Amino acid sequence: MSGPESRAPGPARAGDHPAAAAGSARAAELAERLAAVTTRIAAACAAAGRAADEVRLLPVTKFHPAADIAILYDLGCRAFGESREQEATAKVAELAPGFAEPVAWHMIGRLQRNKAKAVARWAHTVQSVDSERLAAALDTAASAALDAGERTAPLRVLLQVSLDTDPGRGGVEPAELPALADRIAAAPALELAGLMAIPPVDADPDSSFAVLETLHTRLQADHPGASELSAGMSGDLESAVAHGSTCVRVGTALLGTRPITSG
Ligand SMILES: *Cc1c(COP(=O)(O)O)cnc(C)c1O
Repeated sequence: MSGPESRAPGPARAGDHPAAAAGSARAAELAERLAAVTTRIAAACAAAGRAADEVRLLPVTKFHPAADIAILYDLGCRAFGESREQEATAKVAELAPGFAEPVAWHMIGRLQRNKAKAVARWAHTVQSVDSERLAAALDTAASAALDAGERTAPLRVLLQVSLDTDPGRGGVEPAELPALADRIAAAPALELAGLMAIPPVDADPDSSFAVLETLHTRLQADHPGASELSAGMSGDLESAVAHGSTCVRVGTALLGTRPITSG
């Protein structure tokens, strides 16, 4: 998706999302938090000598109610990240009729192959692809969704790369990246869009993001279209922006503590 996915907060306008509770205290709170996060991203870009429009904000709305997404939509957000298939599928179904403009849903959590079919119906991008088997399932599912008219464009895919040795966190080992990238680039219903990573909790984010930046540069040498680098969350987005992030995934700083913290 090209172009800005959020704009400065402004007053609610006619035609806004019916689920947004315009004028509520929550709407005011989210407007304030969005402005603060937007300012943080702009400052991080300035500090890194990058243009502010090189980095997009992906609001991570997992565990937060659909009404919050509607408020963020009214504030100009046009992309949202979700991490659980069932929760996301339900939110998309609830909210879609109220969106006057296209919204890009990003799947950012671990995904089982048996959920590929559901996700391919609504996802603009899957950021968490870390195996050939998952890629193959998504290709089949996206192809079927295209044939059925449930989607109009190939499914954008980011490869999730592991920056530690803990297999529980997901992500492909760096050594396996080139083969998986080639597999996705050759899949007719998938579009290889770039790289995503979650740095290990106990590591210095700067060194993790530096490794990630190098991997991304190498990937782009073979796949110039894979220009997206999804890196940075509430606590470390400045470091990620300094290391080439084009998409920061922000939950807590934008929406507050998640109502449910497991998963
Ligand atoms: C939850 C989540 C985020 C958001 O994390 P915050 O620290 O709340 O900003 C980002 N990326 C992924 C993959 C997540 O699961």
